[in-house]
Amino acid sequence: MMLVPHTCVNAAVGRLFKSPVAAFATGVIAHAALDLMPHKDISAHKAEGLLVATMLGIIGTSCGFRSAPFWCAMGGVLPDVEQVLPWTDPKRGRHRWFPTHNRKRHSLQIPGAPDYTVRLLTQSAASMTALMLAVYKCRPSGAS
Ligand SMILES: [Zn+2]
Repeated sequence: MMLVPHTCVNAAVGRLFKSPVAAFATGVIAHAALDLMPHKDISAHKAEGLLVATMLGIIGTSCGFRSAPFWCAMGGVLPDVEQVLPWTDPKRGRHRWFPTHNRKRHSLQIPGAPDYTVRLLTQSAASMTALMLAVYKCRPSGAS
């Protein structure tokens, strides 16, 4: 899955939580759940990194950098950090640790629809909708 939906969908899910710790744990699980879906990926790490950093900024400034939405989003982002680390790079004979980064548990096929994948456009549309839901009337606690 693109890193953008991991960020935005998780931020929206984070609205359901009060505790940033519970939101973070759920965010990591949500990362695995999205990775299991059949999907297209892009390898444009710098472009995605820029978008995700900006979105984390939007979520943090809207909801607060200690808020559940922000930390649920962080739980979605952090597992993919190993995708760019040299010491977890399969091309260098290393292996990745996060369960859904193993090829057998990544982007599973739907029985009866082996060619179905969630397209980049769909991922982007879902991400933008989720981002709006995540920050809609979200205020850092204590702010008026
Ligand atoms: Zn992942």
